Amino acid sequence: MTGANLQQRSVRDMLVCRKCGAEFPEARATRDGWHYRCPEDDCDASGLGEGLRRKDDVPVLG
Ligand SMILES: [Zn+2]
Repeated sequence: MTGANLQQRSVRDMLVCRKCGAEFPEARATRDGWHYRCPEDDCDASGLGEGLRRKDDVPVLG
């Protein structure tokens, strides 16, 4: 009766940095919901769909 909910956490709010590979909640990457930036101090990737992508997106190959 345990473990049924382990996979219930949504990943839809998770972003992945294309540059450094960090994963972080969407809320950490933006303050205004418009401009997105990697929260890693040593990374300057920005832009949803550019420097960052949603974790549940299927990676585009090629
Ligand atoms: Zn990054």
